[in-house]
Amino acid sequence: MKGSNILIVGAGVFGASAALELALRGHAVTLADSGPLPHPRASSTDISKMVRADYGGDLFYTRLARESIAGWRRWNAESSQSLYHEDGFLILAGQEMQPGGFEYESRELMHSLGQRVEPMGGGRLRERFPAWSSSDFPDGYLNPAAGWAASANVVEWLLGRTGKAGVVLREGETMQALLMSGSQVEGIRTDSETEFAPTP
Ligand SMILES: Cc1cc2nc3c(=O)[nH]c(=O)nc-3n(C[C@H](O)[C@H](O)[C@H](O)COP(=O)(O)OP(=O)(O)OC[C@H]3O[C@@H](n4cnc5c(N)ncnc54)[C@H](O)[C@@H]3O)c2cc1C
Repeated sequence: MKGSNILIVGAGVFGASAALELALRGHAVTLADSGPLPHPRASSTDISKMVRADYGGDLFYTRLARESIAGWRRWNAESSQSLYHEDGFLILAGQEMQPGGFEYESRELMHSLGQRVEPMGGGRLRERFPAWSSSDFPDGYLNPAAGWAASANVVEWLLGRTGKAGVVLREGETMQALLMSGSQVEGIRTDSETEFAPTP
């Protein structure tokens, strides 16, 4: 698949990060978006997005999220800015955590994956985070391997990187239809009736 011509429609965080990764792997990538970019109406474009790996007993999703956290740390180092702020994720329970419950299963999975978490039961919450009531939340934990991403800044930084990696950015192009040849997608038609294929 090396050296394919690839067209991606949508330059939110998924489109932009896919474009960057594919370009770094040697593919010719075109990235089209209605624009302006980062698009103010895209889900990716706001102030902050939570980044966490605590998803109950869901091992598959937890593993993916932990890989993504490693990726966020890499992007911080590459960007020399704080795109990802690792200030932890606090999980609070209204009663003692129980097997089968989201909080308990999340903590158990973290333990089994070797992730240290800080217990918040027994009044510890009041000492560490006095804004929260220990009587309302008698149990819980803090996972330090979590935080938030400065989401619009991330997309802006990613788009800059895609350009440097050779991605052709087509801003102001709203896709109306796929151009098909049999079962093969050959390009797109836009609202200005322009048709284009991936730039080879
Ligand atoms: C309120 C809210 C809170 C969220 N909180 C979190 C959170 O805390 N943590 C978390 O991980 N996730 C969170 N999410 C989910 C996360 O924001 C999305 O999963 C992610 O941003 C999706 O990215 P995307 O690139 O797929 O889509 P988008 O960011 O929406 O990008 C889509 C892009 O496609 C373009 N586009 C669309 N149609 C066309 C077309 N026909 N032609 C050309 N371009 C087109 C748009 O202009 C846009 O730029 C939240 C989502 C919302 C809405």
